[in-house]
Amino acid sequence: MELIDPISQFHKLTEIQTKALKRLGLNTVRDLLYYFPTRYGNIFTVKMIGDLISGEESEVYGVINKLKTGKTFRTRMPFAEAVLSDETGKKTLKWFHQPYIAKIISEGKMVKVCGKTTENKKGGLSFLNPNIEVVGEVPIAVGDSLFTTSESSLGLPVYPESRGVTSTWIHHAVTRAFKNGALDKIKDPIPKEILTKYSLPSLRTAMIWIHNPRKKEDSESAKKRFAFEEIFFIQLKKQHERKLYEKSKTFIIEPNEKDMQEFIKRFPFKATDAQTRAIDHIVKDFKRGYAMSRLLEGDVGSGKTAVAAVTAFAAVTTPPPDNKYGNLQVAYMAPTEILANQHFESFIKFFAYLGVQIGLITGSGCKKFPSKTNPGQSTNISKTQLLKWVEKGEIPILIGTHALISKNVKFKNLAYIIIDEQHKFGTKQRQKLRNKDDIVPHLLSMTATPIPRTLALTLYGDLDLTLLDTLPLGRKKTETFIVRPKEREKMYEEIRNRLSAGRQLYVICPRIAEPDPDKQTALLVASAEAEAKRLKEKIFPEFNIGLLHGKMTPKDKENAMKDFEKNKNQILVSTSVVEVGVNVPNATMIIIEGAERFGLAQLHQLRGRVARSSHDSYCFVFSDSESQKTLERLESLVKARNGFELAEFDLKQRGPGELSGLKQWGVSDIAMEAIKNIKMVEAARNEAREIIEQNEDIDHLPLTQKEYLYRTQYLHME
Ligand code: ADP
Ligand code: MG
Repeated sequence: MELIDPISQFHKLTEIQTKALKRLGLNTVRDLLYYFPTRYGNIFTVKMIGDLISGEESEVYGVINKLKTGKTFRTRMPFAEAVLSDETGKKTLKWFHQPYIAKIISEGKMVKVCGKTTENKKGGLSFLNPNIEVVGEVPIAVGDSLFTTSESSLGLPVYPESRGVTSTWIHHAVTRAFKNGALDKIKDPIPKEILTKYSLPSLRTAMIWIHNPRKKEDSESAKKRFAFEEIFFIQLKKQHERKLYEKSKTFIIEPNEKDMQEFIKRFPFKATDAQTRAIDHIVKDFKRGYAMSRLLEGDVGSGKTAVAAVTAFAAVTTPPPDNKYGNLQVAYMAPTEILANQHFESFIKFFAYLGVQIGLITGSGCKKFPSKTNPGQSTNISKTQLLKWVEKGEIPILIGTHALISKNVKFKNLAYIIIDEQHKFGTKQRQKLRNKDDIVPHLLSMTATPIPRTLALTLYGDLDLTLLDTLPLGRKKTETFIVRPKEREKMYEEIRNRLSAGRQLYVICPRIAEPDPDKQTALLVASAEAEAKRLKEKIFPEFNIGLLHGKMTPKDKENAMKDFEKNKNQILVSTSVVEVGVNVPNATMIIIEGAERFGLAQLHQLRGRVARSSHDSYCFVFSDSESQKTLERLESLVKARNGFELAEFDLKQRGPGELSGLKQWGVSDIAMEAIKNIKMVEAARNEAREIIEQNEDIDHLPLTQKEYLYRTQYLHME
C-alpha cells in the first residue's frame, strides 16, 4: 500500500460512496490518514440483529422486506413498516408520520438502520422511527472483533460524514490502511529535534492516537502535534515566500533626513510617537537593499495616511539610481473609489508645495494634479495620457483603486507600494504591481482590522509587523450605547440635540444576507432609501438627509460624500460602504441599525468613522436581538478600549475561523484551535524561520519537497 494509492484500490465502492468520498476530499490513502475525527464516542454500536438488546442505540445492516404503509387503527396516524433481516435474525421497523419512507427504499435492498430498539406488544424488539439509509454493501467490520472488543474508553471516532460514507466506514477504512502497512510509509516531516523540544509525538504515534486513542491524553497529544504540523507548514510557506521576496532586486531609498522633517512639520498636527516609530521602521527597511514587506496595523483614526505620506515623500525625493533626473515612483492603492479620492485630496494638500505630480486612476476616470492651466487644482485627464506619463516616470505618485493593478499600468521606477486596508487584497494581486524590468518594489500593507497577534503571525507571517498603537492626542473614546427597541425614541431626542448643536450623523443600514449579489444590492438599496424616507418624515424633518449605497454611480457617491463633508446634509444614510476609511471630522455620531448582523471588527470599523476629531463622539448600536450571546458580543464593543482588545474577544467567542475567513483558506479545525495558542504559533514560526534561513533552496529542506507541496497545496491564502 502506497500513500498515493487511491482509496478505491482497497475498497469496493458504490457510486454513492465514490461521490461522497469526493465531496469529502478523500482520494488517496494519505488523504484518509489525514482525515481526522472531530470527536470520539457516542456513535451507535454496530450489531448483528440477533444481538440486539432492548432500549439500546444501535446500528445494524440488513436486507429490507415486507414494506407497507397504513394508518393506525384508532388515531388514523399514517405509518410505514418493513422487516429487516440478516443471517442472525429479523426485526420490524416502524415509522410513524413518515409513510414516504416506503417510497424511498425498495424491497431487497441492503440498508443501514440506526436507532433505538423497543419492545413491542408481542415481546419482540422493533425499531421505532429509526434512520435508514440504502448502502451498497455491509461494511467489512460488521460482526468483526474490531467493534465489539474496542478497548478505547473514549468510544469510536466520529468523522465528518457525507451521505454514503459514515464514521464507521471511515474508521474501518483507516484501520484497514493501518493493517496494510500505511503507517510504515509515512515519513515524519517534522525534524526529530523539534518534536523532542516541544514534547510532540512522532507522526506514526500521532496517527494511531488520533484515529484510535486509548485515552483522552493521547488524542489531545496527537491533536497538538497535528496542529503544530499544520501551522509549521503554513509558516514554512510564508517564510519561503518572504525569502524569495527578499532575494529580489529592489530600489534603495535614502531620504534626506532634514527635508523629511520639514515635510512632517508642515502637518497641522504633531506626529504621535507611534507614527514616528512606524516611519523609522519603514525608512530603515528602505535603506537595506532588499524589498520591505511590512504590515502597518493601526486602529481606525490612528493616522496611517500620514505615515503613508511621509514614507511616500522619502521615495519620491530619492533620485533613481542611474539617472539624476526623474523620480522614484509610488503606487497607493485603496479598496474603494471614495477612499482613493480622499487619499488623492489629502496627498494634494501634503505635496502641493513641492510641485510633485500626483495621478488618480479609478474605474470611473483619471485625474492629475496640478492642472497645467490652473496649478492649484487637479484636472480630469484621459487614461491613455495618464498611463503614458506613468510609464515614462513623469508621475511620481499614482493613487487608485483596483484599476491600478490592471495589466496596462506600467511604471518606470516603481519603488514603493502602499496598500490601504490590506485584508481586501491578496498576495497575488500585490505581486502584479511590478516594474517592467522586474525590480521588486517595497511594500507597505496598512490595515485597521485589528487582528490578534497569533492570527497576524499566521496570516501575515511573511510580513514584518508595525503597530500604530497610540491614538493622536486629544482623541476621545467614542461613547457606545446598545440601544434596545424601547429606548429608540429617547435616543433620537439626544441625537437631535447634538444635530442642532451643529454635529452630523451617519446612519448605517443593516446588512442583508442574500446569496444572489444583485438581489442583495437591490434589497440594501431599498432598505437605505426606506430608512432615509422614514427619518425625514417621522424623526428628523428639520435636517437634510443624504443617501449613499452601492447602486449609485461613482460620481453620485462622490457627490453624496461631498454634500455630507460640506454639511449640506447633516445626516447620511448609508449601507455599510462607508465602512472603510472615510473621514468627515464633524460627523461625530453614528447609528448602526441591525447591529447584530455585523461582525465585531466591522462594527468597530464603522464606529471608527466618528472617532476622528476632538469632539465627543457617539455610537448608537441598535439591536432588537434577544440572544444573550449576541448582546454579550455587542456589550464587548462598549467595554473594549481598542480594536486589539476587541479582536481578542472575538477570537475567544467566535474562534479564528469565523474571524478571518481562515476556513475558506483550507485551514483545518484542529489548526484553528491552535491559533488561539500564541506559544505554539510562535514556536512553529521560529522553527520554520530557522529552517528557511539554513536552506536557501526548498529542495534541500530536511523534509521532502513532496511532503511540503502536499501539505501546502490546499492552502489558498489569498
Ligand atoms: P486611519 O489610520 O484610520 O487611516 P487617518 O490617516 O485617516 O486614519 O487619520 C484620521 C484623522 O486623524 C485625520 O483627520 C488626520 O488628519 C488626523 N491625524 C493623523 N495623525 C494625527 C496626529 N498625530 N495628531 C492629530 N491628528 C492626526
Ligand atoms: Mg485610512
